[in-house]
This record gives sequence, C-alpha cells and structure tokens, in this order.
Amino acid sequence: MPPDPFFAGAGLDRADHLRADPGAIAALRRHGEARQLVWNDGAPALDGQGRLCWRAVSGEPPLLLGLDGQAPRFSHLPDGNIPANAYAHIHLLALLDEIEGPTFAAALSLANWHRRHGHCSVCGTPTDPNRGGWSRICPNCGAEHYPRADPVVIMLAEHDGRLLLGRQPQYPEGRYSALAGFVEPGESIEFAVARELKEEAGIEVGEVRYLCSQPWPFPSSLMIGAHATAVDERLTIDRQELDDARWFSRDEVLAALAGDSPAPFQPPPKWAIARTLLDRWVDGLM
Ligand SMILES: [Zn+2]
Repeated sequence: MPPDPFFAGAGLDRADHLRADPGAIAALRRHGEARQLVWNDGAPALDGQGRLCWRAVSGEPPLLLGLDGQAPRFSHLPDGNIPANAYAHIHLLALLDEIEGPTFAAALSLANWHRRHGHCSVCGTPTDPNRGGWSRICPNCGAEHYPRADPVVIMLAEHDGRLLLGRQPQYPEGRYSALAGFVEPGESIEFAVARELKEEAGIEVGEVRYLCSQPWPFPSSLMIGAHATAVDERLTIDRQELDDARWFSRDEVLAALAGDSPAPFQPPPKWAIARTLLDRWVDGLM
C-alpha cells in the first residue's frame, strides 16, 4: 500500500476537551514538558533532520497545538509575513520529515488564519484568540469565529485505461498533475469534480468516487482526492486555467513515476496528494 498523503497523519492529540478551560491551558503552559514551536522566516523552523524545533515556553503563547503524549505543545503568533503559497516554502517541504507533516500543517494554517482574520466578519471589531487559539471571539458582538478549511477537489479522470493530467502555467518545466478546483457553496464533492473537469478539460464524467484527503496548509485547503470515469476522450481545454492537458497511458505514468530519462512528464512531488493518487492508480488501488 503506498503511503497516505503527506500532511495527512494523526499529528498531535488536539486536546479539544481542554481548549475551553483557561485554567487548564494555564496549567499546561506551566507543565514541565511544555514546549513552544520555533518559527523562522514565516514558517515553523526545521532542524537538519527535517524535524520541528521546540523551546521552553515563554510568556503566554495563545495557540495550544495539542499534546505529544502528555507533553503540551504551544505556538506564539510569529511576527511578520506568513507566506500562503506553497512555492514560498518549497525548500522546507523538501526537508520536512513526514511524521512532522500534520503538526507543521496545523501550526502554519492556524497561525496564518489568525494573521488574516483579526477582525470580526459580523461587525468589524478586532477579535481576540479564544479556545487555545482554535477560535477568535468578538468583544463587541460576541460572535465566535473558527479557523476555516477550504475544500478543493483534485481528481484523476480515467478513460479506457488512460489518465487525464494537466499543466498549470506556474508549474515547473514538464510537470503534469491531477486537475483540481475549489468546491463552491451549495455543491457536493461529486458535482464539483464533474464541473471542474467539464470547465477545464471539456469532458463529461460518469461515476465519481472519493479516494482520500489531505490538509494543504497554503494557506488552509482540504484537498479531496477523487477518481472519475470519463465518458469519452475528446478534450476542450480552458487555456485560461491550463497550459495543456492530455491523456497518459499506464506505461507513461509508470515511466514518469520511476523518473525514467527521458520521462513522458515530471510527476508532482511527494508532498502533493496528486502524487499519492498516481501511486495508488499504478498499483491498481482505485
Ligand atoms: Zn463582532
């Protein structure tokens, strides 16, 4: 079985039962094994082995990331810009240990949400961190606001044993990957998959099946991996969204994943759920 998507593991115990109790959070800050995340240049800092870096708790860090066994893990809100684009963090993604992925993702998304959502969306008043940083509360109107995750469908469309992959303009040279798009309000996963494939590639699909999901902390998406059976192979590509899209045979996908030279295309990197979907497809796991 290929590994689960990067960032998709269990991570810390989120300790939801403690978040609403300020006294319990204060006690956790004083716990002998409490640690605070180290940030560097708008992202959690990594050591030479790709592990997160921790230090003794100082002050009152507002974000309770969770418990590592019995050991509390906190974060402050880092100063300065927190880049929301994955390409800004690509040097870290290449180094990041997979076990640390879920905690890295939670800390980055949560800190970014606090940075970008400091005002009440009901009345505009500046809000305060609440519940160990897992909500913000408005001192004026009392509204409580929760960190958001934006659902994105990402799908392998298949027809007659071949897969549809596409190129976005910002991709590195030669990269092809699964098509993707945001789920819109009032839309199911299945209809979002069908709509995106119709809009971007002009294809009609029949059955759509959910496969697996991945938190994507740039800044806070939930990637929903799916497989769609295309009705035919005729493409009408939306050139505003894609440089190109084409059908690849199983042998071509295998050669790309194996890194053959010359490869039919450059596959997505290990930390993208699209890579997991391709690995599972060639292994016959969908
Ligand atoms: Zn308000």
